[in-house]
Amino acid sequence: MSTNSPMPLANVPLLKSYIGGEWALPATSTDIFEAINPATEEVCAQVALCGPDDADRAVRAAHAAFDGYAALSLDERIALTEKLIAVYEERYAEMVTAITTEMGAPLDLSRDSQAECGPGHLRETIRAARAMVWERPMSSHALLVHEPVGVCVLITPWNWPINQLAAKIGPALIAGCTVVLKPSEIAPLSAQLFAEFIDAAGFPAGVFNMVHGTGAGIGDALTGHPLVDMVSFTGSTRAGVQVAKTAADTVKRVSQELGGKSANIVFADADLEAAITRGVRHCFGNSGQSCNAPTRMLVEASVYDQAVAIAQQAAEAVKLGDPRESGPHIGPVVSKVHYEKIQRMIQAGIDEGARLVTGGTGRADGFERGYYVKPTVFADVHNGMTVAQEEIFGPVLVMIPFTDEADAIAIANDTPYGLAGYVQSGDLDKARRVARRLRAGSIKINGAGQDYGSPFGGYKQSGNGREWGEFGLHDFLELKVMNGFQAA
Ligand code: NDP
Repeated sequence: MSTNSPMPLANVPLLKSYIGGEWALPATSTDIFEAINPATEEVCAQVALCGPDDADRAVRAAHAAFDGYAALSLDERIALTEKLIAVYEERYAEMVTAITTEMGAPLDLSRDSQAECGPGHLRETIRAARAMVWERPMSSHALLVHEPVGVCVLITPWNWPINQLAAKIGPALIAGCTVVLKPSEIAPLSAQLFAEFIDAAGFPAGVFNMVHGTGAGIGDALTGHPLVDMVSFTGSTRAGVQVAKTAADTVKRVSQELGGKSANIVFADADLEAAITRGVRHCFGNSGQSCNAPTRMLVEASVYDQAVAIAQQAAEAVKLGDPRESGPHIGPVVSKVHYEKIQRMIQAGIDEGARLVTGGTGRADGFERGYYVKPTVFADVHNGMTVAQEEIFGPVLVMIPFTDEADAIAIANDTPYGLAGYVQSGDLDKARRVARRLRAGSIKINGAGQDYGSPFGGYKQSGNGREWGEFGLHDFLELKVMNGFQAA
């Protein structure tokens, strides 16, 4: 996936960090991370990795900028964000290419969804900020006001890189916070471009800072820093727990968007062909690398065999292909390390006795290069198996039979995660009844979508806090009540 090379390659861009309004190389570290294009296995970017002293410099820049930026009016902060959207739209094609190159999302997915999340979230946050009541009387003598939390560290993963970045940066900056972003170094190109857009939009120096670095190298320096007020983290539950522990010593606010193992409950009265096909495609979308993917398909026993046959057909119809090409195919997974982890998980399913319906271990046929995983379906899975409990984060679906409504709900909720849930049924009353019983933050019935204005986040070990729209704004705001103010 990567190496630390002592000398930068001449023909590949060397990415700098952005601290206090300047592009900066690390002060002392000479480590360079080579980011790999997962389709070609070639180096696509070199990342100059920061050390703890650079992290400290970025936090201090954000701290120094806070008072001035927080004092701007909401209209002024929105105007800066509107400029950011305008720059983003002018350079939209570059963002599409960056995402496809760094993490292998096929062109159409990059253009229509991955890159689109940037302006999508920013616009929705502006709408929510304009609609929000920022101050209101609490009584005849008290005024309630919303104020920015302060200096925020934002840590993001590689799988929906701009979605996660924009869902944090938009509300933080509109709320009046100043930020230090640490993107995933595995997919650094989109974050680099986003930082260029912010620079071009003219935000005051120090309001937005970005440090490239590893979790191991600068994670603690950022999340334990005494001048940081909040950490907003998206990534694995493992890293999220570590971040929360480090932040606890200085009582920071911590918002966590973590992993998932979401159930898709298919009742016998659903339009079976459509529901199963949709469920398979959804699970394999973005090569299975979505935190809210419907990875456990629970099917009513009376139609289970039929459902497995449909799932096999749907999975075998999914094409793998070059992410630079247009079309409905899926691309490779993000890295060699991740490819190997998925292979181990598929092997664990086989070893634990799940029935391999299609796919399996080994590189997908027809590819000599690239981290292409075979779209894989397991049947006859029981919910205690590793493949039913652990997040695989690849194109791997497990199918579990259930006997009745209560059994389906029990299996769906029998997971440490609680990010999303899916219900398919011809009986809407039943689907809605089941939706209310699922312990998860976002439920979709019969293929419904979710708007940018709805809350996104999880129950249980899928995290806490909610992103998107007005809910994302509240994450970055403190409440203050001022007594002694006369009501107007
Ligand atoms: P990781 O948890 O490995 O990494 C996420 C980010 O955290 C990276 O920038 C990583 O840096 C950093 N990091 C890791 N350890 C620390 C630490 N101790 N302190 C500070 N930062 C740290 O996740 P992945 O990048 O592999 O992303 C996939 C995971 O993200 C999946 O589990 C997925 O479910 C989850 N996810 C959740 C979403 C949600 O909204 N609930 C949305 C999308 C993904 P580095 O790369 O250097 O380790």
